[in-house]
Amino acid sequence: MDASVAIVGAGIGGLTLALSLQARGVPVTVYERADELREVGAAVALSANGLRPMDELGLLGELEAVATEPTELIHRRWRTNERVTAFPVGIDGSYRARFGAPYLGIHRAEFQRVLSAACPPGMIRLGCEVVSATADGTLTLASGETVQASVVVGADGVHSRLRSVVDPAAAPVYTGTSGFRGIAPVSSLPSLPDPQAIQFWMGPDAHLLHYAIGAHGEDVNFLAVVEGPDEWTAGAGPAQVAPNTLERAFADWAPAVREMVTAVPQSAQWPLYTLPPLARWSHERVVLLGDAVHTMLPHHGQGANQSIEDAVVLADVLAEPGVLTGGHAEAFARYESLRRCRTRQVQRSSLVTSDLLHLPDGTDADARDAKLTGLDPWLAWIHGTDARAETRPEALPA
Ligand SMILES: Cc1cc2nc3c(=O)[nH]c(=O)nc-3n(C[C@H](O)[C@H](O)[C@H](O)COP(=O)(O)OP(=O)(O)OC[C@H]3O[C@@H](n4cnc5c(N)ncnc54)[C@H](O)[C@@H]3O)c2cc1C
Repeated sequence: MDASVAIVGAGIGGLTLALSLQARGVPVTVYERADELREVGAAVALSANGLRPMDELGLLGELEAVATEPTELIHRRWRTNERVTAFPVGIDGSYRARFGAPYLGIHRAEFQRVLSAACPPGMIRLGCEVVSATADGTLTLASGETVQASVVVGADGVHSRLRSVVDPAAAPVYTGTSGFRGIAPVSSLPSLPDPQAIQFWMGPDAHLLHYAIGAHGEDVNFLAVVEGPDEWTAGAGPAQVAPNTLERAFADWAPAVREMVTAVPQSAQWPLYTLPPLARWSHERVVLLGDAVHTMLPHHGQGANQSIEDAVVLADVLAEPGVLTGGHAEAFARYESLRRCRTRQVQRSSLVTSDLLHLPDGTDADARDAKLTGLDPWLAWIHGTDARAETRPEALPA
């Protein structure tokens, strides 16, 4: 078997890993079940901890050209336009100055396009669903073809198939909350104050987050999160639900919110999952990253950013001499030790945030607002971390 890495999944984590390995001269192939790389109707907010690695890959300029830097981070109460907090982001350059990279809102399809365009021809094999995998590094594709690699990386998302090789008992848990997503032109939102800001509207049993995307901030991406439904079929993805479900959930909210959730056709309802800690992150030649190993609620905007962090750390440890010729167990252990605690902290913090965003009016909500105004809005422990601090080649002892 030639020394090589096979990655299952060309999502944000898989593509970042592929590019990072390629930059280090490691042979890599990505197997993606989709026939084409596109995710319609959704965007992602990338924070400095995810964008510094993009800068190291030489891609930050290209991403900035198709993304929007929010002016401010604003929290508002649900029924009024009252600003609970407002922290500068791009308006005075303070975020970038503090963390060494910007905060960007970007369409997912654009992000995937920039990442995949940087991959050499043949590195990504589209239309290749992996139907089974074994711990010795053998993959079987839907076509019947089998592939063997020194190391197989499961970057195959929340409903990962590779996870069963590593920890058969692990399964994502529905959090009892769900979301609707949409992208609306700013021109269709005349009531919206501060359309270029990233804003949370917080209310009883629900919240709405939005930020501008596009090269000129011409569109607004929103995620409207509600409590319920109580049950979701285990492992099932988004579902179409009765028309006006979203409109009804936000019927009493501020005009700007009502305008946003009705500006575009109602999306599918997305069940929001979290993944309890796995017994281990790897088994024999198979290792996991991103949502496959630590699915989290999106309320810190960190799922994609943590996948990027995983990918660049894993690339560093896999590129070390001898790893692909038998030294993978030590490399996997080092990767897990660097990433397990960090991702668990972000995951837990996202869960707590969910409850705080959904408080009814009253003393608890007042206390939350008072705390928010005094809080470091960027949770520097999240945005300020350099994931590669201990694995970048120049950080290693000579
Ligand atoms: C509503 C919502 C909003 C979010 N907003 C944000 C945000 O603003 N910021 C943020 O950082 N995160 C956000 N997230 C989280 C983020 O989307 C995920 O954490 C991130 O996409 C995970 O990346 P990944 O590479 O691990 O997996 P994914 O991006 O899910 O990629 C997995 C890939 O694997 C492929 N695949 C799956 N199975 C197979 C198979 N058997 N064979 C071959 N290919 C396969 C899939 O087609 C897919 O391309 C949000 C999540 C949700 C649900």
